[in-house]
Amino acid sequence: MTKVPPLAGELVLDAPSAFGDASRDMGRMVYREPGAVLRPASIQDVGRMVALCREHRIPVAAQGAGHTTYGQRLVGGNGLAIDMRTLAGIEPVRNNRVVCEAGALWSDVVITLAEQGFRFRGGLTGYLNLTVGGTLSVGGISPNYQCGAQVDATARIQVVTGQGHTLWASAAENPDVFTAALAGLGQVGIITQAELALAPLPRRVHTWSVPYSTAADAFQAMRTIMTQDLLDEVYCTVRPPEHGTHPTFLVQLAFYEVDATPPRNVVDTLPTPIEPEHYDIKTYLDHVTLDTAVIDGWPVWENRIKPWFDVFLPDSSAEDYVTRTIDAMTAADWSHPHGQGFVLLFPHRADRFRRERLRVPRQRGDQFVWLFDVLNSGSTTPSPDEVEQMLSRNADWLDAACEVGGTLYPIGSQPQTTQLWQRHYGPDWQNVLNTKARLDPAGILTPGARIGIHATT
Ligand SMILES: Cc1cc2nc3c(=O)[nH]c(=O)nc-3n(C[C@H](O)[C@H](O)[C@H](O)COP(=O)(O)OP(=O)(O)OC[C@H]3O[C@@H](n4cnc5c(N)ncnc54)[C@H](O)[C@@H]3O)c2cc1C
Repeated sequence: MTKVPPLAGELVLDAPSAFGDASRDMGRMVYREPGAVLRPASIQDVGRMVALCREHRIPVAAQGAGHTTYGQRLVGGNGLAIDMRTLAGIEPVRNNRVVCEAGALWSDVVITLAEQGFRFRGGLTGYLNLTVGGTLSVGGISPNYQCGAQVDATARIQVVTGQGHTLWASAAENPDVFTAALAGLGQVGIITQAELALAPLPRRVHTWSVPYSTAADAFQAMRTIMTQDLLDEVYCTVRPPEHGTHPTFLVQLAFYEVDATPPRNVVDTLPTPIEPEHYDIKTYLDHVTLDTAVIDGWPVWENRIKPWFDVFLPDSSAEDYVTRTIDAMTAADWSHPHGQGFVLLFPHRADRFRRERLRVPRQRGDQFVWLFDVLNSGSTTPSPDEVEQMLSRNADWLDAACEVGGTLYPIGSQPQTTQLWQRHYGPDWQNVLNTKARLDPAGILTPGARIGIHATT
């Protein structure tokens, strides 16, 4: 790379040993070594290097915590990886909003906000050691079924576009950039800061875990809670069958106690569970950080392939699709070794999803949308056959979902082609291409998404 501009941070060239993290992701199936890694110390560093890369048509990828699973964050050849985690500042809360740099981890954001008496209004991912920019680039789905995705509670973002321009964008200011960058898979710009909407910190959180043996009971329980609108969180963890029995559908409910006390007899209106529900009261921080602590203490995942599958389903076909898919899952679909994988179901109110680039089913009359995730692991040294089999499973599952009105949530392991992206964006495809051509004219940004409109790596 020639004529490198003055930088406050570090540009690492010719040090492949430093590139371990930058060359892989959580899926452990795709490896691609960049030509250089930037560890920016300022937003200007990002702008200057993107402008240089545009001039020389060098591919660039912003990198967060590395938790997508099929090379979405990778850039090979002479490409530049930008390690966003060095831009992790969080400003004090002002007017019920907080401004954070995109490399801040959500685990740090929630603590900083709680210290000031707030929580993020958009809900949190189950695992929190993800960057703000990483989840806003994909959407960010939480169990908070009433508030859409994290991008829906994001008021403004600062973006370095593929032209190398740094600008703020919101619904009123550069709205085209705002629309294209939120859940935009890094295609038009690198998010460098985000202004997030906040809510008061709950005094405590009441939780219920209610186990069922069938999808039908679990769906009925979740629909009952959502229709009554009494609680703050609803989701379901499905655990694999043990010794030839049925899977367990654990419906997880939470109520945030701010002013009002929790509704009484929450579980009485639900189908009868297979065991008594588990009820607990925690602080908000203990509640939202629980899964992160469990996952970080789970080394068995570390070097295994993780061919994860994620799809949104319309309410009208969700129960049938989920039941059929789970009934047909093999031991390998659940996980190898047994017990290290699970399925998640996140229901949401359909009308709360307002950001265009997050493709959720928008069937008229459907009150809810469901995110269905299969989180399974495989071998540490997989054969090409094992990887091929899992990717082809995901392709089949996605086709089946699309046939019933489902859409891809592109955080997992999906062998996408340009044609499949065209199907994904539907009538907005031409707009996606036009916006990309305008904001990233050299086609340098985020080639790992495989949208097929990039400079070659
Ligand atoms: C255990 C686990 C649990 C999860 N739970 C949830 C969940 O509950 N809900 C949910 O929605 N997701 C969940 N995810 C998925 C997660 O939200 C996405 O994988 C997210 O993109 C990861 O962020 P990251 O910081 O690791 O980014 P990376 O994996 O490093 O990058 C992800 C993508 O975003 C791009 N990118 C990163 N930073 C920026 C930026 N600043 N500007 C532009 N583009 C950028 C990258 O180039 C890449 O394409 C989970 C993942 C894991 C591993």
